[in-house]
Order: sequence, then structure tokens, then C-alpha cells
Amino acid sequence: MRELKTEINIDDKLYLNRWKPDHQSHLEIIDPKVCEAKCSGKDCTIFCPARVYEWRDGRIAVGYEGCLECGACRIGCPHQNIRWRYPRGGYGVQFRLA
Ligand code: SF4
Ligand code: SF4
Repeated sequence: MRELKTEINIDDKLYLNRWKPDHQSHLEIIDPKVCEAKCSGKDCTIFCPARVYEWRDGRIAVGYEGCLECGACRIGCPHQNIRWRYPRGGYGVQFRLA
């Protein structure tokens, strides 16, 4: 008997997750001026898998509610300009397996 194989792509997997957003952000840009004046690459807009960081109207917007808590921004910002914490207890992402 042939085994049925179900393929699922990354967007479908992410769709399975659920979030309970806190009213306060667990991610903080330490000095927004560094983003504007010293950071040519805006790397956070590239390495974050959840697209939490967006360069908009001359500043970094942080959509912390969609954070996957992967921790990449703790080490990925070339200017160590992101203060990273886990969300408070009971808040944040809940991963679900297909
Ligand atoms: S990578 Fe760091 S310094 Fe550059 S825009 Fe993002 S938070 Fe700011
Ligand atoms: S912890 Fe991961 S998902 Fe969350 S903001 Fe940082 S890079 Fe993006």
C-alpha cells in the first residue's frame, strides 16, 4: 500500500501558531538614532523570520506581537541595538505541530 505524503510549506506551518500578545513589547530598540545614522544594512529587516522589524518613515517599526522568540535579534543586530527578553509569562507565541 502506498503511503500518502502531505507536504506543508513554511507559511502553512507558521499559520498553525497562535499568539497571545502582551500590551507591552518584550523587544526594545536601545537607541533609534543608531538605526538611522549608523546602520546602512538594516539587517533586522532581513534576518527576522517573522518580519517583526520594518523600516518605515525613517525609523524602525517593531511589530513585537508576531515574534517567534527565536532569539536571532539578540545576536543579529550589528550594533547590538536590540534589547531582547522573553515575553512575560503567559504571553507570546504558542507553537503547534501539524
Ligand atoms: S539592525 Fe540593529 S541598528 Fe540596524 S536598523 Fe536594525 S535594530 Fe537598528
Ligand atoms: S526573536 Fe526572532 S522572531 Fe522575534 S523579533 Fe527577534 S529575530 Fe524576529
